[in-house]
Amino acid sequence: MMTEAEANETLMCPFAFSAMARLTLGGAKDLALALTRCQASACAAWRWHGPAERGFVIATDGAGYCDPGCSEPERPSDVPPSWEWMSGRKWEDPPGWAEPSAEMKARLRGYCGLAGKPEVP
Ligand code: SF4
Repeated sequence: MMTEAEANETLMCPFAFSAMARLTLGGAKDLALALTRCQASACAAWRWHGPAERGFVIATDGAGYCDPGCSEPERPSDVPPSWEWMSGRKWEDPPGWAEPSAEMKARLRGYCGLAGKPEVP
């Protein structure tokens, strides 16, 4: 199980390698390596593992939870600077700080589904 970036940096797709090897025998090794990297979620065989949930910290203003629509209170020290302020629009959607989608996607893990689901000891 790995992130998309790890898969792209470390996995060689056996299908792409097989095709490229026939085309690049005897030269262009660097090009062949670049073109045979796993494409992760850009490939139909990629499978995600685990829920895709954004991190979220509900806002408090010192006296308790903020009402929906409140302005951003002081950011707690454990909320990363990159997290987005969401003022909320209704009670079921409380104000708080949300992890950006790109950060969530970067930490999600997956695997090449063509070789079966990996066993995790
Ligand atoms: S997910 Fe599997 S088949 Fe798709 S590019 Fe990566 S290694 Fe190749």
